[in-house]
Amino acid sequence: MITDLIQIRRLGEQKRGENERFRRHLKTHDFVERRLRHLAEETEAQVDCTECANCCKVATARLLARDVDRLAKLLRLPEARFLKEYTTKTEDEGLVLKRDEATGCVFLSGNECTVYETRPASCRDFPHMLRGSASLQAKMWDFKDRAVYCPIVYNTLEAWKVETGFSPAAK
Ligand code: SF4
Ligand code: SF4
Repeated sequence: MITDLIQIRRLGEQKRGENERFRRHLKTHDFVERRLRHLAEETEAQVDCTECANCCKVATARLLARDVDRLAKLLRLPEARFLKEYTTKTEDEGLVLKRDEATGCVFLSGNECTVYETRPASCRDFPHMLRGSASLQAKMWDFKDRAVYCPIVYNTLEAWKVETGFSPAAK
């Protein structure tokens, strides 16, 4: 199990091509989804997200209307003011929490989420290996990017490759 974020970044970048081949491998081969979910659960149980918090530093957090409602209530702010002070709109992802390139999400303090109990659904479900409604095949599109910064994704993909008999060398 690799959890060092510098190594994860280096290996995740090195394996981008391999992880894309693995996505295609899963598309064209039979696998037991229950078994892959079990491996993802095992990996997740071994990683302490409170020690890592890397997704809060490097990724954007998308917001649904109910996230806005809950966070505005938590902060005791009118919705319009919450939207102005804490959110921004992006072309690709729509409404997201504001973030800073150096320190990450507007609600991150050190490694701690200051709105943890009320964090957006996209944060609760992250890295979307076990949670979320999309099929595994659909989720695979994002995993080669997330394997560059998330230890859970990187290590789970490695375990899945062994489980499904994927050969990294094969084109
Ligand atoms: S809301 Fe909390 S969990 Fe979500 S990105 Fe910000 S700091 Fe991380
Ligand atoms: S989900 Fe991944 S990137 Fe985010 S804190 Fe957990 S291990 Fe780190």
